[in-house]
Amino acid sequence: MMEMLFSPLFSGSSGNCIYVGTRQEAVIVDAGVSARAIREEMERVGLDAGAVKAILVTHEHTDHITGVGALARGLGVPVYATEGTWRGMEKRLGKLAEEQKRTVQAGVDFYIGGIDVMPFETPHDTNEPCGYAFCVDGLKAAVATDIGCVKESWLSHVRGSDIVLLESDYDEDMLLAGSYTYELKRRIRGRRGHLSNEDAGRVAAELAATGTKRIILGHMSQNNNFPDLALRTIESILLDREILPGRDVMLSVARRDGCSGVFAARMQAED
Ligand SMILES: [Zn+2]
Ligand SMILES: [Zn+2]
Repeated sequence: MMEMLFSPLFSGSSGNCIYVGTRQEAVIVDAGVSARAIREEMERVGLDAGAVKAILVTHEHTDHITGVGALARGLGVPVYATEGTWRGMEKRLGKLAEEQKRTVQAGVDFYIGGIDVMPFETPHDTNEPCGYAFCVDGLKAAVATDIGCVKESWLSHVRGSDIVLLESDYDEDMLLAGSYTYELKRRIRGRRGHLSNEDAGRVAAELAATGTKRIILGHMSQNNNFPDLALRTIESILLDREILPGRDVMLSVARRDGCSGVFAARMQAED
């Protein structure tokens, strides 16, 4: 059976890591917690670390790279990132062999085994951030986090995915009323900051209307959001557009401290 697995192992401002592929062949997107925590979590949920063929990095913020060096050394796999991201993170990864350093370019896809990987540009305040879309046997998934604003340039790469991990970082009112400095609030809300629950709701509505079956809300702020609040906000935006969560699209929240589930996209059998 054609099947694509998608498993957020950790998601949030304290560390991000996602498993994408099949049981035999997969990639890890970001490793923002320790390599040990990632391997323990994979083992706990029955994902084989031996299946991991590569680590893909979205950008050089600490919550995405903490475990990249150690995991790449431990698994003996290459690390893929844009040139700008390499510049921002290389010194912090420790020693890697030359052949473990691979450079990607937004808009230029490549294969890791049978997985077609498409990096796409994202607006975020680092050197050269990107998201990733994946195709395996006609199934599609995407990782879309750390994104400052909704733009067709990245949305066009995410559209058509069966499963999407979508940033829903903060609640607008909580952020504004909270204790962050004016500068930090401005950074988060800025066009190179993060997506709010309201932004995520608009994107979720569009994705659901164009065939996405499962949206996992992630990269949630610990201080400016609550999982239930994010879910309710996005559900109400979907309902406004006559999209029924649970029927038209499955909606859930990615956990910060562990695996949120091993989700599978499957080819619909033809009648
Ligand atoms: Zn982040
Ligand atoms: Zn970031």
